[in-house]
Amino acid sequence: MKQITVTSPLLPPLDEFNEYLKEIWSSKWITNNGNFHNELEQKLCDYLGVKYISLFTNGTLPLITAMQALRITGEVITTPYSFVATTHSLWWNGIKPVFVDINEKTLNINPDLIERAITPQTTAIMPVHVYGNPCDVERIGAIANKYGLKVIYDAAHAFGVTLNGQSILNYGDVSTLSFHATKTYNTVEGGALICHDERTKRRIDYLKNFGFAGETEVIAPGINGKMDEIRSAYGLLNLKYVDNAIAKRQMITNIYRERLQNIKGITFLNDFAGVKHNYSYFPIFVDEQQYGMSRDELYEKMKTNNIYGRRYFYPLISNFSTYSGLNSASKDNLPVSNRVAEQVICLPVHHEITKEDLDRIINLFVEYGNAFWNF
Ligand SMILES: *Cc1c(COP(=O)(O)O)cnc(C)c1O
Repeated sequence: MKQITVTSPLLPPLDEFNEYLKEIWSSKWITNNGNFHNELEQKLCDYLGVKYISLFTNGTLPLITAMQALRITGEVITTPYSFVATTHSLWWNGIKPVFVDINEKTLNINPDLIERAITPQTTAIMPVHVYGNPCDVERIGAIANKYGLKVIYDAAHAFGVTLNGQSILNYGDVSTLSFHATKTYNTVEGGALICHDERTKRRIDYLKNFGFAGETEVIAPGINGKMDEIRSAYGLLNLKYVDNAIAKRQMITNIYRERLQNIKGITFLNDFAGVKHNYSYFPIFVDEQQYGMSRDELYEKMKTNNIYGRRYFYPLISNFSTYSGLNSASKDNLPVSNRVAEQVICLPVHHEITKEDLDRIINLFVEYGNAFWNF
């Protein structure tokens, strides 16, 4: 039986990539602000509808650099329902993460719970647009204004997402993207930091190059986060094909929604109003009582049928031993996150999924569930 993977990287056509490689080989400029790097920054600004973007070698370094760029210290309010890099970026800056529970409809940080988590040490809020679904940016912005906090959005899932026609990346002080192989748009490894003014862009660019502000001047203990020419060229090519890949993901999502809606005990998220989605993930939530099988049993059944999902996000960040000792990591503080983490499976969504693959996946859910009781 053919293996169905949860994701498959979007790869640029080899012949086109070869042409770009020839250019790099003849110029011998392979990293440090080369032509491909600069062109990709420009093209991404146009594509995404943002003013300033700084490319990075992965999606974790822009998170770490964001804290440096904005001089964030003390405590930062964040969500446990994310990939572990979100919280790790705080630790790398000596910042204490303070976990706040998620809203059960959006699975993003619950704005109702943010204010009570603010202390005199709080300097910022770091929400995540989980699965590319926008956070409540208006309310988060209002709370940040009221308390004088910065907002750093981890937008690793939100490539190309708009809210009421506006890029979701234009909210908050800065936003970060990941271009990892598993994401909707990839540069093999890669990432970016988006900001809204030239001064911040300049500081970010110093910080991602060891803090060099000129040949002989270092203005901060920066890091090496630079993206090279080979991956920039690869990224320029993938940008031409990403819209097709997103359209394919949307078709797959629509089929899942149509055919899973009548299965008792399986629920999923619908599109948010006013949002242009990128259909980066298709999470389902398994209610053991109603479905007749636990999430983990179903997940294992999928595997034995050569269908690979991902339990994104399980375990919760707050339940990893690295963070579980924090007061805010207690399960009592995070009931919704803990419940959702026990129910979620992200189904295969990528440009290579076929109609036959979808039939196999959906038939499996019908076969193992209590669905027939409905009829
Ligand atoms: C993928 C991801 C990251 C990290 O990106 P890398 O490019 O893998 O370093 C950060 N946050 C979230 C929410 C992610 O999904």
